[in-house]
Amino acid sequence: MKKFTKDMKKDWTIIAPNMSPTHFAIMSKIFTNHGYKVMILENSGPEIIQLGLKYVHNDMCYPCLLVIGQMIDAIEKGLVDRNKCAVAISQTGGGCRASNYYFLLVKAMERAGMGDIPVISLNLSGMNSHPGFKITSMMVIQAAAAVVYGDIIMVMANQTRPYEINKGDTDKMVDKWVSILAECFKKNRGYFWKNLKINFNKIADDFASIPQKRVPKVKVGVVGEIYMKFSKLGNSNLEGLLRDEDCEVMIPPMMGFAMYCFNNQIMDRKYYGGRFFHSLLSKYFVLPYFEKIETWSREAIAKHPEYTVPGSFKELKEYGDKFINEGCKMGEGWLLTAEMVELINKGYENIVCTQPFGCLPNHIVGKGMIRPLKEAYPDSNIVPIDYDPSATKVNQENRIKLMLSVARENLEKKENA
Ligand code: SF4
Repeated sequence: MKKFTKDMKKDWTIIAPNMSPTHFAIMSKIFTNHGYKVMILENSGPEIIQLGLKYVHNDMCYPCLLVIGQMIDAIEKGLVDRNKCAVAISQTGGGCRASNYYFLLVKAMERAGMGDIPVISLNLSGMNSHPGFKITSMMVIQAAAAVVYGDIIMVMANQTRPYEINKGDTDKMVDKWVSILAECFKKNRGYFWKNLKINFNKIADDFASIPQKRVPKVKVGVVGEIYMKFSKLGNSNLEGLLRDEDCEVMIPPMMGFAMYCFNNQIMDRKYYGGRFFHSLLSKYFVLPYFEKIETWSREAIAKHPEYTVPGSFKELKEYGDKFINEGCKMGEGWLLTAEMVELINKGYENIVCTQPFGCLPNHIVGKGMIRPLKEAYPDSNIVPIDYDPSATKVNQENRIKLMLSVARENLEKKENA
């Protein structure tokens, strides 16, 4: 396979799938600052899944078919110079199939006649390295900041948009902050202690200052496999559908997932013979640092009592502990269950659980946990939605709308009471 060399760094474009537009727009600037030319893909359409199915085995999980299909589609359509591009995909190194996406992409590129394009693996363990690409510890620190910025913008926007008096104010505010942060990152600012705290407060204050009329609305939480939960392409624009149905949406922050991944190093050591050094690093350095910035962002939101503050990682662990062991760490593992418990406790008892085709882990920790949750929280109204190449959008929407009709009845009853 062709390597991504140091000479390519300046002129070649690295293309990567888009999971969450806000988070990834901010995050891509980090790579730009470190000298890479990055393009986060926006292409969509039914041809993407067809390309995924053509070049990847159809038994593979749905997100895999989508991300690989999207990259091949972008190259075929000429969205990027075919002779000067590389593709990048994350490689977790964990037990679920996300670790194999890299190899599947390499194979799919060869089958599509694109075997000469370098395939970069985004991982922290130095697997499948290229001489011209390296994720440094500084990039990890900066990425953590970008994730929390993305989270606070997403959380504030989702709780402002349904109540805004002037339509479009919230979206303008999102754009404003994405470009402010992009500028900050360009100047290598905004990543560290003081800047982070100041910016979190400014972001929260700005969104809260948008003129709003707060009336009771159906509140819906979205959980599921990480790509399906955030990606419009993956979940057929679920957030848009819920907005059109006049709901307030809560998507648990991405930082929770990042912390879960590092917490898994501790669990690996505890239960599965994982490396001592990795568990120490996560326990005494990475997690405490992430907790610190998570706290600042939560404190900034808490200054505005009309907004719901997402639970901290510590709280999530406590919620999850009542139902599932922390050793359950394939896919989203115990975190998915914990997020559902947290949402129910915070008043988002209507939940859409996004389930991709071919994903055994999330069928266990998501769909499989609905029954015990329903027993513990009889008012919860959780609907698992399957996403696969043959599922029709109409079918998915009908199931969601059925859940929403129950939610509306419940809201009415609450108001009458
Ligand atoms: S969590 Fe599920 S969908 Fe995601 S990579 Fe693992 S098996 Fe596939």
